Amino acid sequence: MNIYLSMDCERIWEKEIGMKGPASLIESALSILNFAKLAESHNQRVEFFITPQSAEVHAPIFIDLAKKGHILSLHLHLPSYKEEFFGQKIELGNLSADKQYNYIKSAIEDFEKCLGVKPHGFRPGMGSASAETFEVLTKLGINHGSITIPDLVEKRYKTDWTDWPQEPHTVKTENGDFHNKPLTDNLWIDTAKRSENLPKVNLKTATYLPIYSHNWVDFSEDTFAHRYLNDILTYINVLNK
Ligand SMILES: [Zn+2]
Repeated sequence: MNIYLSMDCERIWEKEIGMKGPASLIESALSILNFAKLAESHNQRVEFFITPQSAEVHAPIFIDLAKKGHILSLHLHLPSYKEEFFGQKIELGNLSADKQYNYIKSAIEDFEKCLGVKPHGFRPGMGSASAETFEVLTKLGINHGSITIPDLVEKRYKTDWTDWPQEPHTVKTENGDFHNKPLTDNLWIDTAKRSENLPKVNLKTATYLPIYSHNWVDFSEDTFAHRYLNDILTYINVLNK
């Protein structure tokens, strides 16, 4: 059983940006720390996909989490990254390869300035990317990531992942292999408040479990999110024995 725990760390909510984010710095910090703590208690590590603004406001937290073995990667939404995109429904998939290259390069530089390391991997906002994105990333020295959401079609963001693999796989590019871990909606711990709202996954037969969340979800003890994730990880530890 291959468990893949990740969290997208979005910019703190601001009205003019027009996209979801944590309500406050404290909400965001606690969500990140409690998610990491719960993972650690099950000997799991988390890949944090961090927007440049989140890297800036939470730098000490992420630097400390990296020391504990968690992975620091880059997450990018154009509307929360650059003022020119505020309030717009535009993501990477809407851009040419050259433009994707420029924005990802600039975001990598911002990330590095805040956290002192290059991002390990990359995840685009809204699953919005194109086949060219893999070339762009390897050209920038990034060979890992979580780019696809298999079978997601979102015309607005020029996204079409029809028939892409449901399991981790390698994409060949001119600059070397890119290792992609797809996301599915099956284990998205987010808005659901009760387990009956969540899609059912057969934990016994699943071979790959991408469990992910966002930095506005409360993972403190006695919350639904905490209990749910704790139950899944406990059960998987039993199965893996
Ligand atoms: Zn996001």
